[in-house]
Amino acid sequence: MQELENRLSEVQQRIGQACRRVGRNPDEVNVVAVTKYVDLDKTRQVLDAGCLHIGESRVQDAIPKWQELHNRGTWHMIGHLQRNKAKEVVGRFSYLHSLESIELAKEIERRAKSIQATMKCFIQVNISGEETKFGISRKELEDFTIEMANFSSIEVVGLMTMAPHIENREEIRSVFRELKECQHRLQKKQIPHVPMTELSMGMSQDFEIAIEEGATWIRLGSILMGE
Ligand SMILES: *Cc1c(COP(=O)(O)O)cnc(C)c1O
Repeated sequence: MQELENRLSEVQQRIGQACRRVGRNPDEVNVVAVTKYVDLDKTRQVLDAGCLHIGESRVQDAIPKWQELHNRGTWHMIGHLQRNKAKEVVGRFSYLHSLESIELAKEIERRAKSIQATMKCFIQVNISGEETKFGISRKELEDFTIEMANFSSIEVVGLMTMAPHIENREEIRSVFRELKECQHRLQKKQIPHVPMTELSMGMSQDFEIAIEEGATWIRLGSILMGE
């Protein structure tokens, strides 16, 4: 517990420093504490420590935790979501960071409509173009986003990406910068229920670069939970 609080305060300092370097207000940067590595008790401790945004990536691990703890915090599904699992997430989780196909959008729309809910989603973009990564390609992004105007129960709050696992910091930076450019371009289109104000980017290894490039949501797992 003490350890978690120490890690959290160190992370908050680093967020503050990154913000100062580029003249941003740290209040613009929201931390999603990624609890996919830890059990229910540990997840409860994360909430106790004051992390109010909880990120999970696998439905089957997330739902039991959600059932115990959903009265506390805001729940984010950050991992790849299969269409047949959408029903588990809609109405429970407040945010989906991994919208990346029309088929998934259709299922979310159908489920959300049936309970008169709106699902806040980030479109996941595969900026780096790695074949192993999920996400819409840059080429398809504009058409996909425009298509979202037809999904009235989905609110597209912004874009999400994952940087490649590489050492080259400037290459990582260029991925984040490019996502920001896409966001800016799409926001100007003023598509219905596509506010496109948010950027979900940056993980334990690269969150400071992401903040410098405009992240409004960073998703932190190992740096908070410990190895
Ligand atoms: C696991 C995961 C994270 C957190 O990764 P860390 O490197 O442990 O901070 C962030 N985003 C997604 C989509 C993840 O699956």
